[in-house]
Amino acid sequence: MYDVAKIREDFPILARTVYGKPLVYLDNGATTQKPRVMVDALVGEYYSVNANVHRGVHYLSQQATELHEASRETVRRFINARSTNEIVFTRGTTESINLLAATFGEEFMQEGDEVILSVMEHHSDIVPWQLLAARRGIAIKVIPMNDRGELLLDEYERLFSERTKIVCVTHVSNVLGTENPVKEMIATAHAHGVPCLIDAAQSIPHLRVDVQDLDADFLVFSAHKVYGPTGVGVLYGKEEWLDRLPPYQGGGEMIQHVSFEKTTFNELPFKFEAGTPDYIGTTGLARAIDYVTALGMDEIAAYERGLTDYALQRLREIPEMRIFGEAIQRGAVISFLVGHIHHFDMGTLLDRLGIAVRTGHHCAQPLMQRLGIEGTVRASFALYNTKEEVDALVAGISRVSKMF
Ligand code: PLP
Repeated sequence: MYDVAKIREDFPILARTVYGKPLVYLDNGATTQKPRVMVDALVGEYYSVNANVHRGVHYLSQQATELHEASRETVRRFINARSTNEIVFTRGTTESINLLAATFGEEFMQEGDEVILSVMEHHSDIVPWQLLAARRGIAIKVIPMNDRGELLLDEYERLFSERTKIVCVTHVSNVLGTENPVKEMIATAHAHGVPCLIDAAQSIPHLRVDVQDLDADFLVFSAHKVYGPTGVGVLYGKEEWLDRLPPYQGGGEMIQHVSFEKTTFNELPFKFEAGTPDYIGTTGLARAIDYVTALGMDEIAAYERGLTDYALQRLREIPEMRIFGEAIQRGAVISFLVGHIHHFDMGTLLDRLGIAVRTGHHCAQPLMQRLGIEGTVRASFALYNTKEEVDALVAGISRVSKMF
């Protein structure tokens, strides 16, 4: 039995009020709230284990190293990677993509080569490739979508050319909620001899993600969106690819031997982890993964699907409601506008009722252009949200609508 009332007790912040109203937190796409076990693990490690990892012979350093490396194994198991060599810790999704664009671009892309992105990418999967385009003269091709917010797979096929070097696509859109058919899209890329990066920032908290089943070459996500701490992320890469990429940043940890004449680099995954890693944060990520694993990713997915369906049905009852993203396969994100009410006004007034939603372009301005709008209001759900909170949102929107 999925006991949401009991689950909510694990998240102390959910009991607080804002403006004297119970908090209704529906901004989980931006970041999730934290379970007590995760925060306790951070504090516990600072208080009882803290020491820099990998370099020390002393007891604490070895214990901290063991915890850090055990966290890597927890991540490996969570996404079913073959080896911990394939798990690179970064600062987040954004850094993971920047790392890949910089190193892949340097090794494999020449002027005139092409990268394929989708129209619904987050800026963090657009701008790193544009920076590379400016440096290297590569071209960006864009997979279009239909009005329901589903990518056009025929058009996708047609974008491949002899110059295509990589495909990068989001698993779940942070605006439309669309769950893209990434397994099929990866297979298409492979049929053209091209690797594929999956941005799993918005799928990893909600779905079972199996990198071997998807056959993803690279996959990235952020700890803070899956109930873990800020400042930690993951770049998964197939060993055969990571081995061929040059280092990203230089510094301690990523070297084998340094002299002023020549430096040799560390083995995977340390080659990509220059400097002191956030070894406390990786413990936090591992405890967050333990937490969702204990609840069951399939159970979480089923619960959130029910909640999202309920929210869609209730929101559609509101006069002049426009929902952006009507994909059949979708995640726990709903973007909308009501009549001519500006998204910012709607968000500000909902906030006064204790309801936290996000407003604006959601770091997806090209998608906003495609939709012909400046921004939306976005409600995004997590494993602790309830039908009562959806009702509060619907009542809040109706109240704001009447004011206009
Ligand atoms: N990709 C997607 C789909 C996202 O939704 C986000 C964050 O909202 C990111 C990438 C960037 O994540 P971060 O800011 O944690 O690096």
